[in-house]
Amino acid sequence: MRMSLRLHDETTGALRQVELRPRMGVYVCGITPYDSAHLGHAFTYVQFDVLVRYLRHLGADVVHVQNVTDVDDDILRVARERGVEHGKLARSENESFRAAMDALGVLRPTEEPWASSYVPDMIEDVRALLDAGVAYRRGGAVYFRVGADPMYGRLSQLDREEMIRLAAERGGRPDDPLKDDPLDFVLWQPSEEGDPVWESPWGPGRPGWHIECSTMARRIIGVPVDVHGGGVDLSSPTTSPRWPRPSTSPAGPPSPCTGCTWPWSTRPARR
Ligand SMILES: [Zn+2]
Repeated sequence: MRMSLRLHDETTGALRQVELRPRMGVYVCGITPYDSAHLGHAFTYVQFDVLVRYLRHLGADVVHVQNVTDVDDDILRVARERGVEHGKLARSENESFRAAMDALGVLRPTEEPWASSYVPDMIEDVRALLDAGVAYRRGGAVYFRVGADPMYGRLSQLDREEMIRLAAERGGRPDDPLKDDPLDFVLWQPSEEGDPVWESPWGPGRPGWHIECSTMARRIIGVPVDVHGGGVDLSSPTTSPRWPRPSTSPAGPPSPCTGCTWPWSTRPARR
């Protein structure tokens, strides 16, 4: 029997044949460890566990990457609220998340990169986006210019007003006066008092959430990845505008991960 695998491609809404290769890279967006795991996490990670096991069953040598987003607005906010050091909060919440996944019998990923360990690489990628003319500097921050991609928003199924409204709701700060376009998003930003800080060509600060997975996926698997997955909340058009056409050419500039949806953002086929 010829084995085949079709997955639901979030960017097209259609089933897509996955090319089976001897070595495959599966990147599943990991958690931002600032609170307890819930059933939504269980659903996501059990689902991709089944996928990884199945690919291995078909004979593929699967590199399964699942990041830990330990540099992010939410984790820094909660650390401030609880008066805990953000690294400590991330470690303890990640430990309890792993214990919960172990209890479910979910295999551990082959690689578990922490965003904080890849900041120099993120800086390199932000620089590449600036060099490519798709990002701009303002007051110690670097923004991605969404208008640089004509496909931007086309697949989001939302009109511009709705995207702006949702960006405001989800911490995207569309009213930031430094932005050329309210939908542009931050690739690098100055850190607030007490938050982690790294030196960069644009001043001390920290990476924006959108660049993190992009950098980690590029460094660990290389692009294009075979399957890029994550919680459905990351890909829903109600969460964020989609990024429909990342630069997957190894020679091209890296692309930010908007709402963590790349063309291979997938969920198992319903049939
Ligand atoms: Zn991600």
